[in-house]
Amino acid sequence: MIIVMKHNATGEHIYRVTEQIEKWGCKASISKGKECTIIGVIGDVRMVDRERIELMDGVERTVKILRPFKLASREFHPLDSVFRINGVSIGGNQVIVMAGPCAVESREQLLETAYAVKMAGAHALRGGAYKPRSSPYSFQGLGEKGLQILAEARQETGLPIVTEVMDPQMVPLVSDYADILQVGTRNMQNYALLSSLGTAKKPVLLKRGLMSTMEELLMAAEYILSNGNERVILCERGIRTFEPYTRNTLDINAVPMLKQLSHLPVIVDPSHGTGRWELVEPISRATVAAGADGLIIEVHPRPEEALSDGAQSLKPERFASLMKSLKVIAQAVDRTI
Ligand code: PEP
Ligand code: MN
Repeated sequence: MIIVMKHNATGEHIYRVTEQIEKWGCKASISKGKECTIIGVIGDVRMVDRERIELMDGVERTVKILRPFKLASREFHPLDSVFRINGVSIGGNQVIVMAGPCAVESREQLLETAYAVKMAGAHALRGGAYKPRSSPYSFQGLGEKGLQILAEARQETGLPIVTEVMDPQMVPLVSDYADILQVGTRNMQNYALLSSLGTAKKPVLLKRGLMSTMEELLMAAEYILSNGNERVILCERGIRTFEPYTRNTLDINAVPMLKQLSHLPVIVDPSHGTGRWELVEPISRATVAAGADGLIIEVHPRPEEALSDGAQSLKPERFASLMKSLKVIAQAVDRTI
């Protein structure tokens, strides 16, 4: 439920409403807009007496949120959420590009990539230290050593780092190193992991499950939000369909649809979405045109030697030319990059 306050409601009116909501055992989330303030009621709203609220000073009306996702919904929070992460704002006018290898393979490989993507204009560095591989015999990542290398690359380049956490028990360790915690597609419905990320002090990049609907993605975000972490970035990374030419089918509909349904930033992963490096540029351009707030792109100095996802990784020079071509698209939709 949300409470829309009158445009001339005072701080005292807002305080009284909040106090009353808390008496009913719920929490209040206040969003101050240009026109008016909206108070979101979080928790078990069965105790909340709507008629009584509507009689309180400063209250315009109450509105029931019908969608199953509440905190993630645009009704609850009409304005776009913008988070600042180590000097980078996501969800605002600037399109944010996160780039780097699928996996951290060595110090040399990561530092070389980090400098290259930084030079090309990337805003954050990605790289997996813990890799959720389909086969237990494939490279599983360097673990904590990989996190240390990522931290060194941040120190060298100033780029914030994005890396995956696969297990609730690993959240404290990975949070110590990462600036953004990535939840991979296979873990989108790992509710123990999502709940523990709700109490993490770092923003979460939540990837859409490979067989999940947009509503399931938003409900997964709701687990993180309802446990107290407001900083969730939604990521479309392709879903599984009957089409074998591409690794996944990137659902471009998800960009404007999620932006309509939710206030959370929406980014796209064209690397996993296509599985083919030569499709990464056209699809990146399309998603920026469709309104994405950012991209996460795999880059490797020698894709043919990559221990994972070489076929979809861009060489640094191709990434640099992609960044140039994205500028033109961003400009066309009144955004910066
Ligand atoms: C990745 O980003 O390298 C990754 C494993 O992504 P996803 O979870 O989308 O497959
Ligand atoms: Mn990958």
